Amino acid sequence: MPGVLCGVDIGGTKCSIALIDYDGNILDKIYTCAHVEEEEDGMVKMVAGHVKELLQRNQLKETDLPALGVGCAGHIRFSEGVIITTSNLKGYNNYPLRDELQSHFEIPVIVDNDANAQAVGEHKFGAGKGYEDMIFVTISTGIGAGLIINGKPYRGMTGTAGEFGHSIVEPDSELICTCGNRGCIMACACGLALPHLFEKKLKEGMKTLIKMPPNFNISKINGQTLKKGLDIGDPVSKAVISDSAYYVGIGLYNLFQTLNPPLIVLGGGLTNWGDFYLNKIKETFYELARDMIFDPIEITLSKIIGDAGVIGAAGLTME
Ligand SMILES: [Zn+2]
Repeated sequence: MPGVLCGVDIGGTKCSIALIDYDGNILDKIYTCAHVEEEEDGMVKMVAGHVKELLQRNQLKETDLPALGVGCAGHIRFSEGVIITTSNLKGYNNYPLRDELQSHFEIPVIVDNDANAQAVGEHKFGAGKGYEDMIFVTISTGIGAGLIINGKPYRGMTGTAGEFGHSIVEPDSELICTCGNRGCIMACACGLALPHLFEKKLKEGMKTLIKMPPNFNISKINGQTLKKGLDIGDPVSKAVISDSAYYVGIGLYNLFQTLNPPLIVLGGGLTNWGDFYLNKIKETFYELARDMIFDPIEITLSKIIGDAGVIGAAGLTME
């Protein structure tokens, strides 16, 4: 099997380990949720075991890979591969993930933030192919960004560049972010905000077409609920999606003014809302940018099909 890469995506609910080819296609994959039950060292052992299992069942040697790429949610000190903090998994404070994994392998191990990894994946295999500069933004439970500048990921001094989720779009907001600040884009626009936004519309007197039994728990409202609402033309779902898009549009406008990129790619679960969402985001963006766009900018949805996190993590090893 020539030209194989291996990536690991460690998320708050699932962990994927995959072999991919140089075009970004997944060749074989192991998927587990068991890592959440493990402590740090147990998780590392489990991941290393799965990588070796994948290699073995595909008749590959470790040295057939250029490196092992790992994407992980949280603040990552890139130069050392240390997880400074992650809100997605218990523990892992200043945890030396790269060195611990490295003790199981001869080939180099690279650990990066998951949004950075996805940006690399999008740049190598997706909508960003051929661009020197681009921004990737992932919108799901939270929101994060990865910056590609001069063909390479830009990580900042620590490795936490692109922590776009904590940029503030509404300083007086009643929504408080996981970081403690008011009005972070993450608190206003993402999965975490959806139940609140939905409830607010109902309190304002809007009527929803979504069936809500008397004991319905509004905190269960998520992206999928609203996707179903959107599909049946539910006005509340549409209004909530529009609100989320409004804040994302402000965020993208701020990124545009700071970095002047030719391309912004959007990925993550909430982009399943599709064109309705994308068009609302663009509406806000272009309204703010007005006549300050001097060359065309493309704002588009991710072209990575399948597991963008693990494909991006594998893409890190092409650097
Ligand atoms: Zn925040």
